[in-house]
Amino acid sequence: MAQRIATILQRGLQKFRESPQLLLTVFVALAIIGSFVFVSLNFLGIARDAQEQLVKVRIGSLQDAFAPLAAELWQQPDVLRSYMRDLKAVNQTIVDFDIVGIEASSSAWVVLRSSDQTREGARVFREDLLLSLARSDVRDSFTIGQNENGIAYFLTARAIVDRSGELLGIILTRQALSAADAVISSNIRTAVTVLVVVLLLLLLLFFRHARIIDYTILYRKLREVDTLKDEFVAMASHELRAPLTAISGYAEMLRDGTLQGEARTQGLERIELSARQLNTLISDILDVSRIEQGRMKIESKRFDTKTMLAELCDIWEARAKEKGIALQRELADDLSIEADPDRFRQVVINLLSNAVKYTGSGTITVRTAMQDGRFVLRVSDTGIGMTEEEREKLFGKFYRAGGADVRKESGTGLGLWITKELLERMGGRISVESIKGVGSHFIVLFPLATASGT
Ligand code: ADP
Repeated sequence: MAQRIATILQRGLQKFRESPQLLLTVFVALAIIGSFVFVSLNFLGIARDAQEQLVKVRIGSLQDAFAPLAAELWQQPDVLRSYMRDLKAVNQTIVDFDIVGIEASSSAWVVLRSSDQTREGARVFREDLLLSLARSDVRDSFTIGQNENGIAYFLTARAIVDRSGELLGIILTRQALSAADAVISSNIRTAVTVLVVVLLLLLLLFFRHARIIDYTILYRKLREVDTLKDEFVAMASHELRAPLTAISGYAEMLRDGTLQGEARTQGLERIELSARQLNTLISDILDVSRIEQGRMKIESKRFDTKTMLAELCDIWEARAKEKGIALQRELADDLSIEADPDRFRQVVINLLSNAVKYTGSGTITVRTAMQDGRFVLRVSDTGIGMTEEEREKLFGKFYRAGGADVRKESGTGLGLWITKELLERMGGRISVESIKGVGSHFIVLFPLATASGT
């Protein structure tokens, strides 16, 4: 589970890295949701305050109107009760509708009149402060909030005085705010539903946007591939035409008898070289398709690197010498690796061939060593070197640096891509260190073969 989450997070991060515009989208989505939540909560707060205020004002007005009537009907308790019942019936928020007063014998607050006659005579507890306030200011009503078992109530009190200003009693109403709360809760529910819908819509938009960004990335990659394809066609036609022209030209001259003696030998050598170039081109293209289709066979076995490298150095020393370049070797004894010998040979040939191609003068050095328990092969040259930008693209398919010193050499831009792919399939790695105009080091790392390896 944790791994799944980590993978999803990693993929997400990768997406953000690939297209930073996504960050802006996420920011806008969060800002919209945040503003919506903020506005909704604010609005609900205002609505709740307004609702409570309204309830208070209504009960205040009701008591103001009822107080003179109650004074008028003080001596007719039944009529008064019936009015109280009617008022309670039309105001559904009212739970208790009483008139209270101080009992002379006990000096305690008791219910004198009530919409519910059974409450009359009952003691009134805990409301002393509210009742005292109502008694001290007979022209106003006073309200306090109360919370009982999670239900909010408003208690409102107002004095009833007769014509001479004598206090007859105090109207005491208890209102449940559950109805108002229900309205607010329903508002909250609506707001949450709308928020969820907005969130879903935003998510939908977000995914669509992410997909569009995916398409943009894909489009960019396709364009790159298209450019590479054009370059490949241009390169392949050039790489095919140049040796073919050489072969047919020299063959014609040989047939005509134009070339004699030394020139004839040179002509034959040029034909041979051109045929080799064509062979390399075709093998490279075949290798690419084998690797891409997963058909490249790797048959690893344990072998001694020194023997193979010494043999290859012998061959390439001769070719380097033709260009006036020295090839040095520092090959460590007893370093065996487990790899496909033919593929490993191909890797080394590619590195040596590049070193000879891209070095005008100086030395090529082939070194092997054991480093941190691994086999290390270094092919170093004092050639044209590379810029940082060139180094980054070096192992890409069809990549060739743009300089004239590279373009004058024949090449497909496939060798290093094939090298890297082959090494990775055999458990090895390749890296490069290079300075433009100074030279390059290609470093191949391999795990050492275990003693028991075959
Ligand atoms: P190519 O057929 O062009 O040699 P590679 O894939 O072998 O193709 O190499 C890709 C590019 O890397 C070359 O075109 C060249 O620009 C650069 N390169 C490879 N090896 C060297 C080197 N030893 N020194 C400088 N540049 C190199």
